[in-house]
Amino acid sequence: MSLHLTNSMSGKKEPFQPIDPKNVRLYVCGPTVYDFAHIGNARPPVVFDLLFRLLRHVYGEGHVTYARNITDIDDKIIARAAESGTPIATITEKFARIYREDMAAIHVLPPSIEPHATDHIAQMIAMIADLMDKGFAYAAQEHVLFHVPAMPDYGKLSHRPRDEMVAGARVEVAPYKKDPADFVLWKPSDADQPGWESPWGKGRPGWHLECSAMIKAHLGTEIDIHGGGQDLIFPHHENELAQSECCHGHPFVRTWVHNGYVLSGGEKMSKSLGNFHTVHDLLADFPGEAIRLTLMSAHYRQPLDFTTDGIAENKRRLDRWYRLIAGVEAAQIIPQTVVAALEDDLNSPRAIAALEALAKPESVDQLLAGAQFMGLLQENPDQWFKSNRAGGLDADAIEALILERKEARKARDFARADKVRDQLDAAGIRLLDRPDGTTDWERTGND
Ligand SMILES: [Zn+2]
Repeated sequence: MSLHLTNSMSGKKEPFQPIDPKNVRLYVCGPTVYDFAHIGNARPPVVFDLLFRLLRHVYGEGHVTYARNITDIDDKIIARAAESGTPIATITEKFARIYREDMAAIHVLPPSIEPHATDHIAQMIAMIADLMDKGFAYAAQEHVLFHVPAMPDYGKLSHRPRDEMVAGARVEVAPYKKDPADFVLWKPSDADQPGWESPWGKGRPGWHLECSAMIKAHLGTEIDIHGGGQDLIFPHHENELAQSECCHGHPFVRTWVHNGYVLSGGEKMSKSLGNFHTVHDLLADFPGEAIRLTLMSAHYRQPLDFTTDGIAENKRRLDRWYRLIAGVEAAQIIPQTVVAALEDDLNSPRAIAALEALAKPESVDQLLAGAQFMGLLQENPDQWFKSNRAGGLDADAIEALILERKEARKARDFARADKVRDQLDAAGIRLLDRPDGTTDWERTGND
């Protein structure tokens, strides 16, 4: 089977045909950097990392360009800067760095390009001017708005009736709008807000416009795949599509791909509901691979019910796989069962089941090849059993306790030696006394 993806535009699973197989272009909306990413925010980067890996496998590593932006100008960032008294650039640089570290810890490959919105203001202004020239946008009271009735097929991605779109966007009924569905391309900035000079006064771009301009700058006017969470379909992606198609005069995206929500206690995980775990906090308790495996455990289009018990369970699965792969070299070829599952609309649960079917002594080299392809089993087993957290003792503290036990035994103080052993046991550390007299250890994760 060749690669098939469900296109949100048609609602159907379609064979994927790149515009240019020598340069397959993928864009995914990245983070707005003013806070820690929660596990719901981490689902799109993991889903599209898996797609990026698959595209590189199918078309060749040098033939895929993946852009994932950083939104570093936004009203939420401005509000955070004002309430904390911290300069905007300090906030955005800090959280962009933490985001990169968190993503690396869950084995998300860096995208080919990571454009920052504030580096593309000139391109945004040019695109707005172009839309105005072509009759799709107008200036009013220092704002520039996209005029929705000027685009007859507006709404074709989200398939919403017009009334619902107006209500759904919770658009402010502003006196300067010709139509209640019109949306902002440019808005004025006060003296204490960041802003750039433009033909319409000092101001800043609307969020939707940022992506349209960055896509054009880095990937061109028509791309193969545009991805993001399903909450972005409307209004964000509908508006990106409107801006880009009206500006360029031809289709913008071949395949729209959207992932489902991460749920916590049956509700969508979100900052506003407060029912979230940050990736940063979870990484203090669990190895990144267990978090990654959990995020891949449901099909990307389905909701993912997130629990820390689920991560612990996936960690035990990885422990089992890591025990099997000790001393094994990965097979040269990625198992066809894993590739076929992923080519079938990125069916990660089926790919994980295919890995599980290979988790036996005679096929462990294939397990390793397939798992590594999916961003798992990236460490050597020794390192895995030593470094993954849970238990609260770091490697130095463990080594110190092992030395203490050894000395107690040498002094024939067995009560003290046993006490140290119990302490390690309680922290989930298993001691492995070697015939040569040395003691090795591993974490059992039984805390
Ligand atoms: Zn976007």
